[in-house]
Amino acid sequence: ALSIGIVGLPNVGKSTLFNALTKAQNAESANYPFCTIEPNKATVPVPDARIDKLTAMARPQKTINATVDFIDIAGLVRGASKGEGLGNQFLANIRESAAILQVVRCFDDENITHVDGTVDPLRDIETIETELLLADVQSAERKLDRTRRQSKGDKSMTATVSAMERLVDHLNAGNPASTFAEKDSDAISALYKELGLLTAKKIIYCANVDEEGLAEDNRHVVTVREFAASRSCDVVKICAKVEEELQGLDEAEQLDFLASFGIPESGLTKVIHTGYHTLGLISYFTVGEKEVRAWTIKEGWKAPAAAGVIHSDFERGFIRAEVIGYDDYVKHGSEAACRTAGVLRVEGKEYVVSDGDIIHFLFNV
Ligand code: GDP
Repeated sequence: ALSIGIVGLPNVGKSTLFNALTKAQNAESANYPFCTIEPNKATVPVPDARIDKLTAMARPQKTINATVDFIDIAGLVRGASKGEGLGNQFLANIRESAAILQVVRCFDDENITHVDGTVDPLRDIETIETELLLADVQSAERKLDRTRRQSKGDKSMTATVSAMERLVDHLNAGNPASTFAEKDSDAISALYKELGLLTAKKIIYCANVDEEGLAEDNRHVVTVREFAASRSCDVVKICAKVEEELQGLDEAEQLDFLASFGIPESGLTKVIHTGYHTLGLISYFTVGEKEVRAWTIKEGWKAPAAAGVIHSDFERGFIRAEVIGYDDYVKHGSEAACRTAGVLRVEGKEYVVSDGDIIHFLFNV
């Protein structure tokens, strides 16, 4: 499954955030027996008002939300790319993540030391991203060497070698792989994918503030937002400490608690939603008496692939899909009513599933 790696310098609040995510996982884990539990992974339900609404309407025995995986990636310090701290172990973990959640310290607290002495979000971001970039330079240079050797006497690889050279130059000049203009070109796209470069991954900046910073952005958050905007990245502001406390409360208490800080929604919910979105994931629903359930697919998937998420037999034997748009379902109240009203559509193999579709698959076994 696609996962989001949590990175950040020491003492910025990563563990506090990860603990909150783990509590959110454990509170619901009985509903997710299919998820493997690992110490550095939190598989958390994606809050979704639509599935709550469908549950209220269909009154199933059980409701299963979509989930998203977060991986706690410890060990990123200055020098990690040279093997300081956990070094290579860290890099391997982050390579497996599909996107990065970078926790940035945006709270002043004299009792909590900062590894570099002062709170300075831009410097921290640069420290982290320099390590990622240095690691990429190393992998790209190794690849370039290998490609050069393979290309000896093989003229068809000339274009690839020169594109690789330009990639190495691009990285060496301090640019993230994601801005390499030729990355999708025929000459290099396959190699580029294979490399799994760290600076090619999408980043979400998680500005960790103290309680006072929740209602109104402090100067650190303002700085992070400006920087992120210049990179077209998302920012989620949270107070990791508050999130950890929130996880022990029931829903009504949580809302009271949030209101006392002047915010409508928990930061954890925002982190989860932004993460899901950044991974390019959407949900479709199945609605029945036994179960209302959200299924996770990637944006753009066609009906058979979407069916395969439920069971590979559904994909192999796919015949057709009966699809109801979410708004239509809510308006008419049930599958039968939608059928009568003529808003249930029959879709074939080429149908691209939309976020929020309610689907019933028909298949051969
Ligand atoms: P990590 O090293 O990045 O995993 O950081 P931790 O999660 O262990 O947090 C380091 C310290 O900062 C701990 O003492 C936390 O209680 C504290 N901390 C984390 N988040 C916040 C916050 O939002 N506000 C304040 N004041 N302290 C926090």
